[in-house]
Amino acid sequence: MISFRQRIIREHNRAFKHWLRLLWRLYGQEAPIVLMVHGFKPTRGECKNAFELTCASFERLMRFFMDNGWKALSQEELGLMVGQCQWQSKCFHLTFDDTYDTVFTDAYPILKRYGIPFTMFVTKDLVDQPKYITMEHLKELAHNPLCSIGGHGLQHLVFRNLTASEMTEQCVKGKRWLEQELGVEVKAFAFPYGRLIEVSNRNRRQIHSMGYDLAFSALEGSVRTSWFTGKHYLPRVNVSEQFVEKFTVGKFPRFKDCEGR
Ligand SMILES: [Zn+2]
Repeated sequence: MISFRQRIIREHNRAFKHWLRLLWRLYGQEAPIVLMVHGFKPTRGECKNAFELTCASFERLMRFFMDNGWKALSQEELGLMVGQCQWQSKCFHLTFDDTYDTVFTDAYPILKRYGIPFTMFVTKDLVDQPKYITMEHLKELAHNPLCSIGGHGLQHLVFRNLTASEMTEQCVKGKRWLEQELGVEVKAFAFPYGRLIEVSNRNRRQIHSMGYDLAFSALEGSVRTSWFTGKHYLPRVNVSEQFVEKFTVGKFPRFKDCEGR
């Protein structure tokens, strides 16, 4: 049975996500968004949850954006837009969480073909693990100007459970490790799991002081709501098979199309 405190947090999360979603709808389907993608599966039948996607659907979505006048923003362009609150419609930034190797083998050739910039959020302990990206592939990505590298912790932990010093270790050491290994500057962070259930207000305030320009949640919405979330808990949109199906025919995806749990 969950405690009273956990129940309050859960309700807070629910209210927060409904509000973000309402704002996104008010701003319209062409409002600027940040896409969140995990790994790829060869066939639709093998996609067991909303975090798995076929490469064919991914390419269909990228083609939809390119054919319909959407602009793919680099992380730097996104940061400027959020910082200056100068919103353009029909623009997106693409992010990958957890760094599965299928991002390199399946998505990277498509991104190079279309010239689409993207951010890889890297968890140190997942690199070189089975199914996850190899250091060799990560280095190749990091040296392509299309790719920005972002932090996703040393391990993939629930930040709400961490003390302030444990969080500092995850974020500051993680950032330093990436910068030393890859020779790039790391300016963005994505909270592992990313909902309010897993990320506290203290976590959000603390990430602000750790040298990251932007930080991302896993809650669904347009980045145009940054006046509400701040620059260090920006919403994203999870790209599932159902999301691609709806979005590419002009329908607004429902909660269950984007949520994996
Ligand atoms: Zn993650």
